Amino acid sequence: MDRMMQSIADKVKNQIRLSKEDGLYLYQSTDLLAIGELARFKKQAVSGANIFFNVNQHINLTNICTSRCKFCAFGVDADENASYVMTPQEAFEYGAAAVEYGITEFHIVSAMHPDMPFDYYLGIVRDLHQAFPQIHIQAFTAVEIFYFAQISGLSVRQVLQALQDAGLGSLPGGGAEILNDEIRSQLCPRKAMSQDWLDVHRTAHQLGMKTNCTMLFGHIESCEDRILHLLALRQLQDEEPGFQAFIPLPFLPENTGLAHLKRTSAVDDIKTLAISRLMLDNIDHIKAFWVMLGIDVAQLAFFFGADDIDGTVYEEKIMHAAGARTGKAISKEDIIALIKEAGCIPVERDTLYNVLKTY
Ligand code: SF4
Repeated sequence: MDRMMQSIADKVKNQIRLSKEDGLYLYQSTDLLAIGELARFKKQAVSGANIFFNVNQHINLTNICTSRCKFCAFGVDADENASYVMTPQEAFEYGAAAVEYGITEFHIVSAMHPDMPFDYYLGIVRDLHQAFPQIHIQAFTAVEIFYFAQISGLSVRQVLQALQDAGLGSLPGGGAEILNDEIRSQLCPRKAMSQDWLDVHRTAHQLGMKTNCTMLFGHIESCEDRILHLLALRQLQDEEPGFQAFIPLPFLPENTGLAHLKRTSAVDDIKTLAISRLMLDNIDHIKAFWVMLGIDVAQLAFFFGADDIDGTVYEEKIMHAAGARTGKAISKEDIIALIKEAGCIPVERDTLYNVLKTY
C-alpha cells in the first residue's frame, strides 16, 4: 500500500471525511482490493453482514417524452410505434395485479409526457394509496417533480405536498445523471438542471420525505465530475438530511444517442460502488442495482461496500430499453440464495429500511 492509500486508510479507520483529492486518487489507483477492503470496512460499520432487498413492482406509466435525453433508450415521440401511455385504470390494474405477490412498494417512474396533466399522476397515486394503504408508494424522480411544477403552475413544494397528501411516501433517486450543467446541456438540456434536482430533494426532505439519489456514470463525464457529483450529494445530506440510499448507475449505451460509446467495465462499476461508499459517509445505504449492473457484478459488490441489491422488480422497462442484459424480474428465493452464497445475511426491508424479515 503506498503512502497516499495508507493516509486514506487511516482516515477511513478513524472516521475522518475523505476530500475531493482523496476521491480522485482512489479513481486513479489500480489497487482495487485495497479500495474494496476500505469500502467493506465502512459497510460493515453501518450494516454489518446484512444485505437488504425489497419486493416491489415497477410501474412505468408512459414512455412518451418531450426531453429525449441522449443517454435514454426509453423515451420516444408520441408517433413512434413503441409509444404508450397507461390509462389511470390500466395503471391501477397493473399495480393491483402485483399485490398478491407480497410486494411492499409501488415504484412509479415515467417520462415527461407532453399532454398528460399533473392531475393524471396525482389521481394514480391517490387511487393506489386508497386501495392499498399498506403499500408504500415511491414515485417520480426529481426531474418529473420539476416538470409537474412547470406544467401545473404550482411550485415544487406545492406539487410535493399535493402528492404527499394523495399518498406519495418517498422519491426515487433518478434524474440526477451527473450534477454538472455543462454535461446536462449536452445530454439532457430540456430537463431539470443540477440545482433544480438538488432543490427538489431538499424540499422533499424538508417535508419529511425520504429520498434516494443516483449517479449515471460511464458516458462523457470525467472521474472528477463523478467525485464532484458525490460531494454535491454529501453536502445536501449535511444541510438537509433525507437521502436513504445512493445508487450508482452504469450507463447502458445500446439504443441510445450515445450508442457508439462502450459499456463500463466491471472494474469501473465495482470501483465506483466502493468509492461511493467511501465518499458518502453520511448516506447509510449503497445500492448495487442488479438490473443495470447484472446479477454477477451486483453479487461481487457486496464485498466492495454495497449493502443493498434493490428489489425483485416485477417488471422494469426503462433500463431494459437500453439493453440491460438481466431478466425483467428475479424471484425472492434467487435473491436470498445469491446473498447467502456471498456469505452475507439477506434482510427483506420495506422502502424506509424497516426490517421485515431476516433469512
Ligand atoms: S431519461 Fe427520462 S426525461 Fe430523459 S428522455 Fe428518458 S424518460 Fe425522458
